[in-house]
Amino acid sequence: MVSCRHTALEVLPVRKRTLRCRHCHLTLGGGGFGDDYSPECYDRSGERRYEFDELEALDDGVAKYRCEECGAIITSS
Ligand SMILES: [Zn+2]
Ligand SMILES: [Zn+2]
Repeated sequence: MVSCRHTALEVLPVRKRTLRCRHCHLTLGGGGFGDDYSPECYDRSGERRYEFDELEALDDGVAKYRCEECGAIITSS
């Protein structure tokens, strides 16, 4: 094991994919969707709507760092 104290950290931006419903503007995130319909529209009108805008947002809840010394990826949240 190489001992490294990870003193030279470089911040890596973390991106997440988000879908926003074009009708009610509900945003769905977290992955695992594909042919999902908007649950909000379904609640309101009983119609299944599949029209989404794809957004790519920076995930500010998670920060990732890479150590410039040893290349280790460090996640902190
Ligand atoms: Zn390191
Ligand atoms: Zn909707």
